[in-house]
Amino acid sequence: MAKAVVILSGGLDSTTCMGIAQDEGYELFPITFDYGQRHRRELECAQQVARHYGVTKHPIIPVDFLRQIGGSALTDEEISVPQSGLSHEIPVTYVPGRNLLFLSMAASYAEVLGAEAIYIGVNALDYSGYPDCRPEFIEGVQHVLRIGTKAGVEGHAIQIETPLLHWTKSQIIRRGTELQVPYELTTSCYLGEELACGECDSCRLRLKGFAEAGREDPIPYRRR
Ligand SMILES: [Zn+2]
Repeated sequence: MAKAVVILSGGLDSTTCMGIAQDEGYELFPITFDYGQRHRRELECAQQVARHYGVTKHPIIPVDFLRQIGGSALTDEEISVPQSGLSHEIPVTYVPGRNLLFLSMAASYAEVLGAEAIYIGVNALDYSGYPDCRPEFIEGVQHVLRIGTKAGVEGHAIQIETPLLHWTKSQIIRRGTELQVPYELTTSCYLGEELACGECDSCRLRLKGFAEAGREDPIPYRRR
């Protein structure tokens, strides 16, 4: 059975990627990064999702570096998470270099496993404007994997799979629902408290997506 590494945060998008990769016939190898994120509940969710899919291995990789450098509302206590709704600027919840680091580490893991693909739940439509979620960025990293890995030089470069790239949040949720993705085990809130806040960018996108998909979000909220 071909193997796929899935970058699993415990959020809605990456969990949908687990369902899609499984549906495409891959044996799932989720990898989760502990980067000192404010929303630490994600890590528990990622573990529950991995258990749900019955995986044999699920490394949780400490990336303390991102916490040490700070510079993001998600990793730096001094910067608060905005509640003001979506804007057109790159928001302070952007984590410098996050997906570049994650894809590099996932590629190392994939090479050792002999995996064919890396799934990452980036989305360039219903998103917060992060530059490392755009197709140009993914194409750039794909090029690097072709020229800078043993697998790539030997002619079987690891493929970066981004099934959600051009989907709306509601399309993601509809597809995930068809695949029986366990959304009740996921979290999306940037604040990472027991109950999702319902007001941060991430909660807003998620609630809007469920509403547009005509589905009830199965997780509890402080307010909707
Ligand atoms: Zn929230």
